Amino acid sequence: MFEQLGLIGCGLMGGSFALALKRAGLVKRVVGYSKSPSTTERARAMGVIDVEAPSALLAVSGADIVLLAVPVAATEATLKAIRHLVTDKMLIMDVGSTKRDVIDAARRVLRDHVGSFVPCHPIAGKELSGVEHADAELYAGKQVILTPIDRTEAVQLRDAVRVWESLGCRVQQMAPEAHDAAFAAVSHLPHLISFALMNSVTGQEQGDQYLSLAGPGFRDFTRIAASDPKMWRDILLANKHELLAQSDIFQRTLKQMELLIDSGDGDSLEALVALASDARAQWRMGVPKK
Ligand code: NAP
Repeated sequence: MFEQLGLIGCGLMGGSFALALKRAGLVKRVVGYSKSPSTTERARAMGVIDVEAPSALLAVSGADIVLLAVPVAATEATLKAIRHLVTDKMLIMDVGSTKRDVIDAARRVLRDHVGSFVPCHPIAGKELSGVEHADAELYAGKQVILTPIDRTEAVQLRDAVRVWESLGCRVQQMAPEAHDAAFAAVSHLPHLISFALMNSVTGQEQGDQYLSLAGPGFRDFTRIAASDPKMWRDILLANKHELLAQSDIFQRTLKQMELLIDSGDGDSLEALVALASDARAQWRMGVPKK
């Protein structure tokens, strides 16, 4: 049981964490801070946080658990704002979608206290941002990837695992580099393609008419294109090298299929579609292939 959660970033992810922690009876009090006072005020009015803090530092004052749930590019500034109150006893976690940049920032800013920081990425969320979409159920049954570093303290790592497991999550540990490579392929590239597809359709003279004819396939494929622009700007830039490498592989795969279409090679084209179709049919979210 924690005395106080210091929540920095009272949006979808942070708000959902606070609600889940409260519902599980794991925290007595939540003190929250967000960039806009109106967000923090809304979080309090909704019962997501109990007390509004006027700064990140004051949200951390008296906290034994701290969650950073801000856009990844805001991590360094946020850590700088709180570092004077960080102690070796505190558990500090984040929920950022990229890990190497967040860890680099934590090493630079927290220095001797970096052991208190456990980098986390919950594989949960939705394309709707903001505290109004916070949901105590968001993390239940989902995977959370922890990417501890050599200096992460064993006590904090154990506590982080316990917290996420208490919220009903399956916890997995990975190296930060492996995390960023994997999520470039299965999250960052799909978002990039979804944004590009929307723009390629709407950028055409008859785009609006085409959109009016689109069905469930288009809806499913482009759901993630409605994601928050600033958050995704940060993620795409933060994981630039891995993302561009995946984009290159994708473009070569696309080109291969285009050539088969152009040459009318139906058998080869069908074989590639069957390969994808079988792989997708066998895929289960969060379950490794046997
Ligand atoms: P969100 O709903 O927009 O919430 C972000 C919150 O951070 C907002 O309350 C925002 O305040 C606050 N904020 C922004 N800059 C800040 C700063 N410098 N200092 C303090 N607060 C600041 O976004 P989210 O979906 O919760 O995303 C938060 C993090 O979760 C991101 O790092 C993202 O990569 C990660 N993540 C998201 C998902 C997803 O599906 N959404 C999934 C996994 C991980 P204002 O309202 O005042 O702007």
